[in-house]
Amino acid sequence: PSPHRKLSLLTPSGHLTLGNLLGALRPMAAGQQEGDCFYGIADLHALTTPHEPARLRDVVREMATLLLAAGLDESTLFIQSRVPAHAQLAYLLECTAYTGELNRMIQFKEKGRGVDSTRVSLYTYPALMAADILLYRPQQVPVGADQCQHVELTRDLATRFNHAYGPVFTIPEVTVPAAGARVMRLDDPSRKMGKSDSAAGGVILLLDPPDVVRRKIARAVTDSDVGADAVRADPAKPGVTNLLEILTACGGSADGITTYGALKRSVADAVVAELEPLQKRYAELAADPAYVDGVYRAGAERCREVTAPVLAAAEAAIGL
Ligand code: ADP
Repeated sequence: PSPHRKLSLLTPSGHLTLGNLLGALRPMAAGQQEGDCFYGIADLHALTTPHEPARLRDVVREMATLLLAAGLDESTLFIQSRVPAHAQLAYLLECTAYTGELNRMIQFKEKGRGVDSTRVSLYTYPALMAADILLYRPQQVPVGADQCQHVELTRDLATRFNHAYGPVFTIPEVTVPAAGARVMRLDDPSRKMGKSDSAAGGVILLLDPPDVVRRKIARAVTDSDVGADAVRADPAKPGVTNLLEILTACGGSADGITTYGALKRSVADAVVAELEPLQKRYAELAADPAYVDGVYRAGAERCREVTAPVLAAAEAAIGL
């Protein structure tokens, strides 16, 4: 195992949001000091639900540029489809998994609910995710609660494969990192601010211009409390609590703020200030696509080198 290796994949399912920045990109950037980080854009995973080719290409390019703009340039950055071992090992793992196990995956059941037809790839998604992980031999896999079941399956598949064909895979430990900032939607604080609903009015996109950010925050849901202590974190006040958390995460302070209007102005100032350097760097990088391409080409090359022995060992063991 490679204990110092960190791996994280982001699915290009929409435009990156403030939630992704505070909950994922920032911790990913911090992780660079502690280990050898592999950060990938999971374009193959984006094909598991209805997609539009030209939009996918645009979203991948935007995400690739944003990861660099967010300071992840000390990591190995790559695009999943450029490292064919992911799809190749996924097939071997599909040949190790049982339909009964995949039938039990909660995410498949949820995403398929109410949909007339689901893609086969949505069903086999956990095998690809297992390949994503096992190829890099990380000792620990930090995942959100929603991915725990998939990592458990990864462990089961790896154990079964090792048992049947020989000790090829390192069995990763699942760790659930201490809950970081969890940003909720401004229009509905019961739902997280994710890129899957990046078109929603209550979702702040990393590339939203300042006036758009301010408008979205001005429209944020609060409540009708007008008491002297209305501005406070309280489970009964989810909209206000969310604004306060965003404010703190963006380096602002609510000291002395007593009205929702003032709170929203402070939040808007803090978010705009947080996004400004990122957007500036994004514009510079977007003007130099050859540089961005070069970074991802070199990253994929390193991934191919790192993953080749694992794929080769798996193929040999299974009899190919
Ligand atoms: P989504 O597609 O909803 O943005 P993903 O499940 O693909 O979310 O998550 C990508 C990364 O961003 C994960 O690390 C996840 O924890 C993080 N993330 C997504 N939404 C939020 C949020 N609202 N607050 C904090 N972190 C988030």
